[in-house]
Amino acid sequence: MCADPAKHDEYEAKHPLICVLGPTASGKTSLSVHLCGIFGGEAILSDSIQLYKHCDVLSAKVTNEEASGVPHHLVDSVSPLDSEYSVVQYQRAATAAVESIHEAGKLPIVVGGTVYYALSVFSPNAVLDHAESDQTAYRQAMAKWDTKTDEELNAALDALTSTLSDPPPPITSRRAIRNALVTHTVTGRLPDELYRQQTATPARYPTLVIYLTCAPVELERRARVRVDAMWGEGMLREAVEIYVNGAAAGVPMDRGVFQAIGLKELRPVVDVILAKHGSGQEACDALLGDGRGYRKLPESFPIDESGLTALAAECRDDVVQATVQYARRQAKAVRQLERRGLPVVTIDTTSVVDAGWTGPRKVAEDAVRAFLTSPKSTMIPAPDRAARQTFRCEVCARDVIGRGQFEAHLASGRHKKAVKGQARRARREAPVG
Ligand SMILES: [Zn+2]
Repeated sequence: MCADPAKHDEYEAKHPLICVLGPTASGKTSLSVHLCGIFGGEAILSDSIQLYKHCDVLSAKVTNEEASGVPHHLVDSVSPLDSEYSVVQYQRAATAAVESIHEAGKLPIVVGGTVYYALSVFSPNAVLDHAESDQTAYRQAMAKWDTKTDEELNAALDALTSTLSDPPPPITSRRAIRNALVTHTVTGRLPDELYRQQTATPARYPTLVIYLTCAPVELERRARVRVDAMWGEGMLREAVEIYVNGAAAGVPMDRGVFQAIGLKELRPVVDVILAKHGSGQEACDALLGDGRGYRKLPESFPIDESGLTALAAECRDDVVQATVQYARRQAKAVRQLERRGLPVVTIDTTSVVDAGWTGPRKVAEDAVRAFLTSPKSTMIPAPDRAARQTFRCEVCARDVIGRGQFEAHLASGRHKKAVKGQARRARREAPVG
């Protein structure tokens, strides 16, 4: 940001960002490599699993052949044994990559299927909006603030809000105060309802979002084809290796890479295979041998799938279903941003298999060219605060987070019963006559 508007325009013109988002097998990689070739770009991954080393098959990691010489920043930048990696660290690494690409006079193209990772690169609000996804940091912050007394919580919040020029109205519920402090601990910011930032904020860089879509039936077909191909490439072997390494290092199995689609769903098959090697340390010793850090499964180690055909098929189907559901959630997130005003160029890739890539590529190319001619500030729409706001039901003396949840509470039997009880008590206490 510069004080002089003319200089600011000049700055923005030199620092644009392209973002290619879309579901599994929608052609993101091939499109972004194509765009990098034409516009002198470099790719930055925004796929929460491709960031992990040793997950080459599971994440359908971009191959050298696919990348065809285009640098892909942040690929293999995290160890599967790092259970604390979060979007906050990602944001730091990704924005540093953007800056180095800008300095080299090139065009950064963020590409991936994890929408909130992509958003964190250009939207100053994204980490706050999606901090809920950072479960580990949240658990730790929650544990810290939960032990404090009401007075301590009040004092801590007062210290944070007393310097605001427009102080927020006092919060009376312990839970709402604690939640605000937890948000501050995790993100370094107070919830925006305290700041009263209800307006759109400028993106870090003028940004063009290209969103590849696909009809649900075709998406499911592609996901199935891809999972079958991954299975043939040794998906199960890779999953066994990651699980054994995780167990050997004592990594909690509900964090980091273990939350990734694919690993989670294959766990039942992996467990059966590992059970053949005894439990815990025995399996690790037998499979990994000596050494520290992440170790490769010995080539000689057989993955015995006998008797597992039915279970394996079930787990593979679970991977397909999880992929489809995830794509649906990501699509919803993009649509919400678009409805609230983020400029998004949507390209339907459903018929790409038959019609080829020429059409979609041309649309994307034209959109990028028009955008680069005059990249103007992108405004990130104000987040839907009502979704996270705390609502108080005075009748039940209960705090509920989110307007939807609150409405559900008001319609619940429990609340209605409480209302009736209150009315009954009021009648009883009312003076007779
Ligand atoms: Zn109630």
